Amino acid sequence: MDRILILGGGVGGTIVANLLSRKLRRQIDDQEVEVTIVDQSGNHVYQPGFMYITFGNEQEKNLSRPERSLIDERVKLVVDEVTRVDDTTHSVTLASGATLPYDQLVLATGSRIAPEEIEHFDTEAHHFYTAQAARSMRVALDAFSGGSIVVAIAGMPYKCPPAPLEVSFLIEAELRQRGLRDKSQVHFCSPIGRAFTIESVSDMATPVLEEKGIELHTFFNVETIDPARKVVQSLEGEELHYDLLVLVPPHHGAQFLIDSGLAPAPGGWLPTDHHTLQVGGRPDVYALGDTTDLPLSKAGSTAHFEAPIVAERIAAWVTGKPLNEKRANYTGRVMCFFEIGDGKGTLLRFDYDHPPHPPKPGRIWHLGKVLFNKTYWHTVPRGRV
Ligand SMILES: Cc1cc2nc3c(=O)[nH]c(=O)nc-3n(C[C@H](O)[C@H](O)[C@H](O)COP(=O)(O)OP(=O)(O)OC[C@H]3O[C@@H](n4cnc5c(N)ncnc54)[C@H](O)[C@@H]3O)c2cc1C
Repeated sequence: MDRILILGGGVGGTIVANLLSRKLRRQIDDQEVEVTIVDQSGNHVYQPGFMYITFGNEQEKNLSRPERSLIDERVKLVVDEVTRVDDTTHSVTLASGATLPYDQLVLATGSRIAPEEIEHFDTEAHHFYTAQAARSMRVALDAFSGGSIVVAIAGMPYKCPPAPLEVSFLIEAELRQRGLRDKSQVHFCSPIGRAFTIESVSDMATPVLEEKGIELHTFFNVETIDPARKVVQSLEGEELHYDLLVLVPPHHGAQFLIDSGLAPAPGGWLPTDHHTLQVGGRPDVYALGDTTDLPLSKAGSTAHFEAPIVAERIAAWVTGKPLNEKRANYTGRVMCFFEIGDGKGTLLRFDYDHPPHPPKPGRIWHLGKVLFNKTYWHTVPRGRV
């Protein structure tokens, strides 16, 4: 029997499993193939919803579902933590002590946040990268009555690159609606020399920042927080006073990938082929989603568009059929909605060869995001779109 092992039941892992169970239905029913997901929580979390806990009335209970309810009955689910991969013996060790062998391995364990790497982060800064943090940021915003709000980034790369800009726009709109805008300053700090890594997106966002009176600070890489003076300092030597500090925490790939020698420290991002999605030249190990080192957004949409490539390649390996080159090579396709505030948004759509040309911000793109959030559970993880 061919054993296909998928580590991580988030966006990427779940879609690959469902696509494979469809493509290899007969082989799975005839017990020629086994598809297994290992996930440490057993729950699938819709992380983009966290931002709407802070800026909408979203609730945590709507943002998580049991992984079992999202995957085809033919897919096996093991709820356990992966602690090691041994690519010489083709096996994976779990925290329970169990060992799982594989013939084809899919790495989809996403990224983890590490706020503890910045001293005083826990007591001084807010973020929206977990449901709990997003709730606590809501409480802090409710208590805010004027002053300086600083939104900054404490390490690249991070999940959902537009998120800190979106959050700056949403904060500014909220302050206006609450009559606090005249008493407040909003600062957006970018680690590079412009507002956003992709030039065309920066060109779209910079005039919006100006129009909204949000002060842009470029080359601001967060280094330290001084709680006594309420100041955040950058590596480049700039200091900003804050009354409310919002920081994107540092991100890394899963620790077991470093421990297993698959990904270099300290980032833990897997060296992944831009088109085949194979890891480190191995023909039987694939990566998708946040865990790769691809020069693309760490976004659910990236994992979404990568999943059919991994499924196509593994299905061809199982069936021995020739690869459909078009379906088996990733083009770098990504598509994300981008909130601008005041019920407006835009859309980022691009690939390796074509940068995004965001349309003029409008209501339709915000509504697109609202619709996507509402339909997510019925579409994306099930591999239906
Ligand atoms: C606030 C916020 C807003 C966002 N907005 C957007 C957006 O608008 N658009 C967009 O496209 N993306 C957005 N994203 C990003 C998106 O959520 C991620 O990029 C996406 O979830 C990545 O998918 P993945 O499959 O790589 O990892 P994940 O979905 O994170 O799944 C990883 C899975 O691996 C499991 N796992 C990890 N380590 C282990 C281990 N050792 N053993 C077993 N299991 C393990 C985890 O439990 C998890 O289930 C946002 C994220 C956040 C936080």
